[in-house]
Amino acid sequence: MKAAVLYGPNQVEIRDVTTPNLPQKGEVIAEVEFVGVCRTDQQLTAAGLDCERILGHEVVCQLPQEQGHFALNDEISCGQCSYCQEGLTSHCQNLQELGVNQDGGYAEKICVPRKALYRFEFNNPALGVLIEPLSCALRGVERIQAATNLLSVSQPATLVIGGGLSGALISYLLTHSPNNKCNIKLYDISKMPIPWAEKLGIERVEEPEKGKAHLVVECSGSPGGLTTALQVVRNAGIVFIYGVPKAGISLPVSPHELFMREIAVLTSFAGVTEKTIAKAIAHIKGDEAFFEQLLGRAIPLEKLPEELTHWNPQPGTRTIVDMGA
Ligand SMILES: [Zn+2]
Ligand SMILES: [Zn+2]
Repeated sequence: MKAAVLYGPNQVEIRDVTTPNLPQKGEVIAEVEFVGVCRTDQQLTAAGLDCERILGHEVVCQLPQEQGHFALNDEISCGQCSYCQEGLTSHCQNLQELGVNQDGGYAEKICVPRKALYRFEFNNPALGVLIEPLSCALRGVERIQAATNLLSVSQPATLVIGGGLSGALISYLLTHSPNNKCNIKLYDISKMPIPWAEKLGIERVEEPEKGKAHLVVECSGSPGGLTTALQVVRNAGIVFIYGVPKAGISLPVSPHELFMREIAVLTSFAGVTEKTIAKAIAHIKGDEAFFEQLLGRAIPLEKLPEELTHWNPQPGTRTIVDMGA
């Protein structure tokens, strides 16, 4: 079968690889339909891995024996370790992440545990690529809400940094949470229009002002975004790191300043569980028109190597690999 194989830093090519055909107990061979091209894939591609790997973790697939479309929970946890026992499956000590440390979805077929597949019904099945990132965003917003007790106001002035898909999903959830009344502004370094922000009625700021935001949500994953977040947050505010920071960079603030300004730094990692997947499916099903605008270009698998090595999605959208294209 055809698959995109990462074989070194910035080296990815389409190859003919052996089709998985011997599933273990509980596993199935699924046919991949769509895969979301995530920034994490680009970062893994740039860095390279210590062995050859098929990336792709935002997967929609079909099963030969069953009707419908399925989203994949790419986080295969053991269910036994102390983190699994606490429900923190993303921190499983034996975690297998399909498309990260195990082969993923940039291939015609994928071998997965049947229980990691979740059926959904949308008018446009390609929207299923958003189920994984929205599940992670749900986990993120849960953590934000748990921490807002630390703030001095019940309606925190909120600044989202980064208008990409992560910023869109977090902003959507913040504006659609009944118990969350925050006034959101968006800052993105690009000057391009970001349609999702307009749809949500979120004002864009050209230059974020210091001392205005109680809560700053860093979604760009860039060192500049992180520096800005820590500079502009109000004293006694929260900086929430949601965009994945590059490995090897340090927090651009001294512990002394964090202490004196009483800044809380909060993070969120992954978070795809049965619960978040069910919520993500319900959100998308209830508002397909909003999520539809987050789908960007659809490309065939052959174009993926270029996409991963020359990162350039349409602003605020997810590029998808359409295996049928
Ligand atoms: Zn992703
Ligand atoms: Zn575990």
